[in-house]
Amino acid sequence: MQRPTLSLVIPVFNEEAIIPELDRRLRTFLGELKEVGREWEVVFVNDGSKDGSLTMLKELASSEPRYKIVSFSRNFGHQLAITAGLDRAEGEAVVVMDADLQDPPEVVSAMVARWREGFDVVYGVRAKRHGETWFKRATAAIFYRVLRAMLGGISIPADAGDFRLMSRPVVLTLRALREQHRFVRGMVAWVGFKQAAVTYERPARFAGETKYPFSKMLRFAMDGITSFSIVPLRIATWLGVMAGLIAVGTAVWAIVQAARDQVVPGWTTIMIAVSFGTCAQLLMTGILGEYIGRIYGEVKRRPLYVIGEEVNVAPATSTAPKLPPPGPGLPSPP
Ligand code: UDP
Ligand code: MG
Repeated sequence: MQRPTLSLVIPVFNEEAIIPELDRRLRTFLGELKEVGREWEVVFVNDGSKDGSLTMLKELASSEPRYKIVSFSRNFGHQLAITAGLDRAEGEAVVVMDADLQDPPEVVSAMVARWREGFDVVYGVRAKRHGETWFKRATAAIFYRVLRAMLGGISIPADAGDFRLMSRPVVLTLRALREQHRFVRGMVAWVGFKQAAVTYERPARFAGETKYPFSKMLRFAMDGITSFSIVPLRIATWLGVMAGLIAVGTAVWAIVQAARDQVVPGWTTIMIAVSFGTCAQLLMTGILGEYIGRIYGEVKRRPLYVIGEEVNVAPATSTAPKLPPPGPGLPSPP
């Protein structure tokens, strides 16, 4: 089978109100990519929908073989749905987008254009967000800035979601990252390669309610921070150092007070013991945290490095992601 040029990966969770319009928009958009002919596919990942989504998707797939469906046995969550889609997508470029048309298919042409210029990851940056509560916008803005401050080396773009195009080498590398708690947009940033942004106005959800209630958002944020940063574990060390400084001050002050005979017997000893005890415990917690952080790093079993390109290296010894033989490209956009 010929490898499709473009794969779209679309997680679907209780989206029956949207599927007919999504289908219409996808067909129009993909139909306009004329020179691609039949060389596209759409991988719908049904994330344990309880409504008629799966039946509707099956109905659509029965008349369109380029619509593929991967259906979960229960709701595993958006990030795992994306993962399953990336594991199945065969395209030379793979675009992840939401089902609710908040990631307009038309923006994909701009992403494809950047990909044709040689970029491996083209992510969508939301210039304006319509139809989202101020609470969602504010928490998202704070979250990305806190996360960026904690990450140091890897830069996760602010105001970007999972709507992005990835070249096949990036997708193959992502497949090698099998960690359990997955924060896909962070993993894509970790992978590296040449990345570019495309800005777009994010429309409101086409129909239905958000499938990301606050509890899911919170878990998502925790996964994001804990998958990429051990800064929270280091807080104990910093507190320990601060407690140590305070303890020295307290000890001096307690001894002075005792010398002046202004305290009951035993007070000085207790003050000194308590302040240094606190400092010792926090420092030890911090040291444990450092080791736990390292254990965590090891159990993630990420590849140690990712090779973007090799020159004059025999294929047998190559560790770079294996590229498919070049196929006919997408048309250059107007
Ligand atoms: N989604 C999913 N599993 C979930 C929650 C959401 O597959 O547990 C899908 C949902 O169908 C949509 C995408 O993830 O295609 C984004 O969800 P949503 O639009 O509700 O999030 P929001 O845009 O409100 O952040
Ligand atoms: Mg949405």
